[in-house]
Amino acid sequence: MSKRIEGARRAARIVHALKCPVCGNPVGVEDEGRLLCPENHSFDFAKQGYVNVLTRPACGHYNKELFEARRRIMLDSGLYAPFHEAAADLIREVTLPTDLPSIIADIGCGEGTHLHRVLEELGGLNVAGAGLDIAKEGVQLAARDFHDAVWLVGDLAQSPFADGSIHAILNILSPSNYDEFTRMLAPGGRLIKAVPGAGYLRELREALYSDERRTYSNEETIGLFDRHFRRTETIPLRYTVRLGRAQLEDLVRMTPLSWSPDPKAVTTFLDQETADITVELDLLVGEPRV
Ligand SMILES: [Zn+2]
Repeated sequence: MSKRIEGARRAARIVHALKCPVCGNPVGVEDEGRLLCPENHSFDFAKQGYVNVLTRPACGHYNKELFEARRRIMLDSGLYAPFHEAAADLIREVTLPTDLPSIIADIGCGEGTHLHRVLEELGGLNVAGAGLDIAKEGVQLAARDFHDAVWLVGDLAQSPFADGSIHAILNILSPSNYDEFTRMLAPGGRLIKAVPGAGYLRELREALYSDERRTYSNEETIGLFDRHFRRTETIPLRYTVRLGRAQLEDLVRMTPLSWSPDPKAVTTFLDQETADITVELDLLVGEPRV
């Protein structure tokens, strides 16, 4: 079976959670590999097995190299392994004892590694994953290598998810749209948002920058979360991971921090065999304020 048809079949399993991003009507999955709504808006699955539901072209700052670096470092070093375990534990609490799968949507999924790893942690449970990102370069990689979720290129502001259809939203180091999250979440569903703590990738920031980018405050992001969602839990994750030289290179490649650093500082940072890198993430867990 082609990856295109495989992708469409995975989407058919969660079709009740999808809607047409143009008119908002329910969509069906056609046998030949496309989403179709009653008003004839149609979205073909690509040969890699993802579907592009953007209603207008988007341009982003990300590129394939960044997504590949992110994937490698996550799979090789376990940089985010404690986060994946914690997220899976939080999702387990909201999965439903029904025949229909509980649906986990990763909003801003990039190259899909976080969602893939969380789904692996949840192995055996009746869950279905859907990853959405506006960056096609990321979603293409996700669909190419991970065959355990529905991968969509789309804009959260014109979301392909139906009202009340999602049991857990993952939103990892990525922008939020709380009105959309509120609309999408099923009763009892929860938002799990990962925000960087002040010491996130401290060693990298301190090596590359001498200005205010050396530190980071998540106060504003958390304030925004609390205005829109009732926070039920906060899980602070604090740990270090030892990275080798190749992984340090990937770390520099994968992070938007590296967009405009001093090239000499990058060289110095990469001129070490290993380094302990600090990961500080706050997991904000919440429900819509209704
Ligand atoms: Zn439509």
